[in-house]
Amino acid sequence: MEKRADWIKEIYVDQADNSNKLKAQTDVTGSKVLTGISQIQYEIPGFVDFHLHAGWTDFDHDDQEKRSSLDVEGRIKRCLNELAAMGFRIVRDAGGLECIKADAWKQSTKENAPSVVECSGMVNGENAKDSAFQNCIKKRNSLWVKIFATGGVGAPPEKVLIPTMKKEIFFKLVQDYHAAGKLVMVHTWGGDSLDWCIEAGVDSVEHGIYMNQRQAYELSSKNILYVPTAAIYQLLAANDNPLQVASFFAEHARPAVIAHQKAVEYCVKEGVRMTCGTDFYSDPKLLAYEYEEVFALQRYGVPKEAAWAAFCGQTLTKKETGACLHSTIRLNSHPYEINSPEELKAEICRM
Ligand SMILES: [Zn+2]
Repeated sequence: MEKRADWIKEIYVDQADNSNKLKAQTDVTGSKVLTGISQIQYEIPGFVDFHLHAGWTDFDHDDQEKRSSLDVEGRIKRCLNELAAMGFRIVRDAGGLECIKADAWKQSTKENAPSVVECSGMVNGENAKDSAFQNCIKKRNSLWVKIFATGGVGAPPEKVLIPTMKKEIFFKLVQDYHAAGKLVMVHTWGGDSLDWCIEAGVDSVEHGIYMNQRQAYELSSKNILYVPTAAIYQLLAANDNPLQVASFFAEHARPAVIAHQKAVEYCVKEGVRMTCGTDFYSDPKLLAYEYEEVFALQRYGVPKEAAWAAFCGQTLTKKETGACLHSTIRLNSHPYEINSPEELKAEICRM
């Protein structure tokens, strides 16, 4: 029998009424009084992309440098507007947007534009010791800060788990950011730095490709949020990778995909709190893949109820979203009956 969730509301609309005016509304337990009503829609909290580099326009930062600021701003606005039309209502910047003048992307985004949960900046082994940079990060009025604790898909596989900094520096950063009132997200592919995340009590772990079961258990025990960003590695590993990047990224992504599936399986087993993030940037050609994550997680064993709850932000706390506005959207089918990005595209009521 199909499980129902109380955050998915059935709405009865008059099919003849194109404005979708509400005729009657019930929840799953409510009685339905129908007169001349012929269509059901499903109202849900809009989608979440909790790991988006909205301020980046290209995979390679050098390509972004070649663009005019008008071009960069145009791509950011276009992508945010399209995300709004696709039903995204909360995005968390995973770093990069802090370098774009705020009014350049805040202005002229549509009424339904997603709430952007901002990031103060990106910290790595080099700038961790730069006190001017650190002061600048702490001063920024943004909720999150990002630490790169390992390499990523660009790093050679045998080196990818080597931490980018010493343990003492990592702990000091987390402590300082928490003292400054910030939440800390950590990019780690696994290994020692993932243990540090747990021990230091960071606020979210990003990617966690080589996470083991003990680490999943500990993340769950500490209720630390996990953002796998599963789909992008699957896309990078694909033979005709739609990101159109150099083939060595695909070679690095292939073993990562195999390990990542295991990591997500451990997290399902141990009850780790997860949400959806794409790790995409503001490139219009990626918009075709924005819905992949909710299905990628299901391919890795996340039950559909949990995957949709994650995609609609039901696993996030008010603290993590900065209590931002999270408005609803409507689908023509129950989400649990939607099994592919194509079906989702067809079933969403576009705004
Ligand atoms: Zn990222």
